[in-house]
Amino acid sequence: MLKPDTCLFAVFAFLFLLPGCGTNPVTHKRELHLISESQELAIGQENYIPARQQQGGDYIVDAELTAYVQSVGNKLVAVADRQLPYEFVVLNDSMPNAWAMPGGKIAFNRGLLYELNSEAELAAVLSHEIVHAAARHSAKKMEAGMLLQGAVMAAGVAAQDKSYANLIVGGAQLSSQLIATKFGRDEESEADLYGMRYMKRAGYDPRAAVTLQETFVRLRKDNKSSFIEGLFASHPPSDERVAANKATLAELGEGGVWGKEIYAQKVGKLKASQAAYKAYDEGVQALAKGDVNQAAALAKKAAEAEPREARFQELLGDIALKQNRNKEALDYYQRAIDIQPDYFRPYVQKGVALNNLGRHAEAEPLLRRSNELLPTASSYFMLGQIAEDRGNLDIALQHYEIAAGSNSDAGKSSMARLVRLDLPRNPARYLQASAQADSMGYVYAVVYNPTSAAVANVHVRVVRFDAATRQPDAQSGSLLVAAKIAPGQRGQLLLEGLRVYKQADMKLLRVVIEKAELAK
Ligand SMILES: [Zn+2]
Repeated sequence: MLKPDTCLFAVFAFLFLLPGCGTNPVTHKRELHLISESQELAIGQENYIPARQQQGGDYIVDAELTAYVQSVGNKLVAVADRQLPYEFVVLNDSMPNAWAMPGGKIAFNRGLLYELNSEAELAAVLSHEIVHAAARHSAKKMEAGMLLQGAVMAAGVAAQDKSYANLIVGGAQLSSQLIATKFGRDEESEADLYGMRYMKRAGYDPRAAVTLQETFVRLRKDNKSSFIEGLFASHPPSDERVAANKATLAELGEGGVWGKEIYAQKVGKLKASQAAYKAYDEGVQALAKGDVNQAAALAKKAAEAEPREARFQELLGDIALKQNRNKEALDYYQRAIDIQPDYFRPYVQKGVALNNLGRHAEAEPLLRRSNELLPTASSYFMLGQIAEDRGNLDIALQHYEIAAGSNSDAGKSSMARLVRLDLPRNPARYLQASAQADSMGYVYAVVYNPTSAAVANVHVRVVRFDAATRQPDAQSGSLLVAAKIAPGQRGQLLLEGLRVYKQADMKLLRVVIEKAELAK
């Protein structure tokens, strides 16, 4: 195994990727960096907003609580080994989780704050996340992903089960990969070790990192599912980690601030409204299962307990939308937008309600706004339909093309529309053609239709290339391959008078799609 102890190693890797050399700012070991520091900061900057959008958005009901989490984070980064443009937010998500992006962009879920008992425990989680960012842990994963040509990243996305992850299109897909990054044992130990050092430097008792880890191990043994899907998925707890943290504690020495009273006071309002958020989460699940009455009762309970929460108004809107009470849904969504104008989902949903009412022109700016916050296949699909209805096919095609990049119902519908509009204009983009010989040397022009639409009147031209010059030396006229080819089927035509006996000669034949229509 080669160890990049010196920058000479870069000479070998240079041929492939032009890497840079650097020093791990936390451990001060020399490393190869394929992603430069300025790229790292840009990745954090560009992905922080879309990542927050897909996890319920920022928790804004209690601004003082966010300011408190930020103040604890800032005490820790003041003593960290690497200065970055650190930022901390509390997300409106009940799943107990926290994450850090490249460039020091950190998020802490509302759901994890319920589970902690002191400021020192909050500092333990925050300092751990700070080290993940400072030591470039997810940047290194990206570098490994780049070396594997994105295979690792793509697998990470497919494995995710977040409701919005499948709907996100374009560059913002990277944000869902970044927040689902799973860390290995070495990265977890490094984050624990340096995290405890930062706690000590900032005046907290590092023992809180040990007791918190013990709690996590216990929760994991109890199979507390929200933790398994949340924090433990990316930061697995273990008895070894507890033992290592105890050794670090012996080295650093116990003692320091716990801050149990101040923590209890700061999360007081959050804990008082916990039942309302539980009702909301259950209401969302009930609606997804189609139990509208149960969902309505739970949403009403939540909204009465906490009228300032935009998500509760949005759920009331979703229930009205489901019952086809579109005008009522509009009011709920507008209330959600008024409370929290920088969250994407009520804009999408209000767009759906307006579309249902035939008010397409009013839906358009809302869908555009939602795409600025988080680009989704649902919004692009509706924008494509609006453009198509208006007769603006080029714009419609652009929108459908973006939406078709997502593995969702809206993505599949967009692909179907894209094929319908564009296939007659660009049949070669959608149909696959080749020349194939049978055992007797008879040659066929074969066309495969991978789309979901039946095609008709498929014409091809067969071109033969000269073996020596590689230039075309003969070509057929326009040939009808098949009157109709169903989705997923092939059509073929025997090329009369042409026989080929050597595989090398087959390689000199090209079948070019000339034209095709959609079957009536
Ligand atoms: Zn971790």
